Amino acid sequence: MKQVIFNVGGALSVYTEFDDKKLLIDVGKSSEFNPIIDFLVPLYKRRNSEKIADSSKYKIDQIIISHPHKDHLSGIKDFNDNFFPDLLTCPNNNNGMPEGHLINWDLVGNEKEEFILTLRAMLEGRQPPLRTTSDQNEFIYYLPPQTVEDEQELKSESYCNNISIATFLIINNYRVFLPGDLQKSGMEKIINQNYSLQNKLKGGVDVLICPHHGLKSSFSTFMFNCMKNGKTNSLNIVSEKINNPDESRTVDARYSSSAYCNGNNNLKGGNSVEKCYQVKTSRGHIFIDYSTKNHPSFEIITDNERLINKFEN
Ligand SMILES: [Zn+2]
Ligand SMILES: [Zn+2]
Repeated sequence: MKQVIFNVGGALSVYTEFDDKKLLIDVGKSSEFNPIIDFLVPLYKRRNSEKIADSSKYKIDQIIISHPHKDHLSGIKDFNDNFFPDLLTCPNNNNGMPEGHLINWDLVGNEKEEFILTLRAMLEGRQPPLRTTSDQNEFIYYLPPQTVEDEQELKSESYCNNISIATFLIINNYRVFLPGDLQKSGMEKIINQNYSLQNKLKGGVDVLICPHHGLKSSFSTFMFNCMKNGKTNSLNIVSEKINNPDESRTVDARYSSSAYCNGNNNLKGGNSVEKCYQVKTSRGHIFIDYSTKNHPSFEIITDNERLINKFEN
């Protein structure tokens, strides 16, 4: 029951092992770190993990692509070269999707980019299941893209962010919410449209992988108001975007306050007596062990070898 939120700069990638299942959510990479080449391939090689018949690709239970933006997909070719997922989940336009779930690739844009071409090639002949690989954790939420497209005020970036697949994982009774790049409007809609998500939030959130990387433009008081106690229990995790003078690109300081997190964790803030409410992936990979009592155990890891060892054992 382990998870790592990789330090991939302004991108996002999260790898989780629980219930004997292996789940990758998003596959962004940075110039310094590639989650596939630097972590997953060496880990699977060391474990001598099972490969697909007649192939050099390793089996993995599931990959979830929250939405087709480059910062969540830049490592998709490396993934596809080395892994074959039993389940491939992403917003898409396959015929198998329920009505209203066809995504508008014109609004997504980037149609000639390699990461989009690779993803669309991977989708051929597959029907993305809107569930997670664990029977205990079928909590995936997704706004019908047409709902988002109909909002005239939304520009293409917002369209893509607001069709993000939101995943709610329950790992050893700990509750983890990963809402992708949902922006304020999308967050409110997805919660309002899903009674089951309302209940999940009401039941409490221990770890929040903050919406749209924790940027100001997506801080949702509505989401926190829907949570038990109006805040997360253990930690808010922000995958920091590169400094940008644009106000909407700065991380919202509220994530690092006791008003939005109980700080029930083993990390320390800037000052060693201070509780930690928020941690940024720019400090390193954030490794979480969910097998501990009282709260999950967090560690910031900068050494790649150490990170692989954490999962190998
Ligand atoms: Zn993003
Ligand atoms: Zn995005």
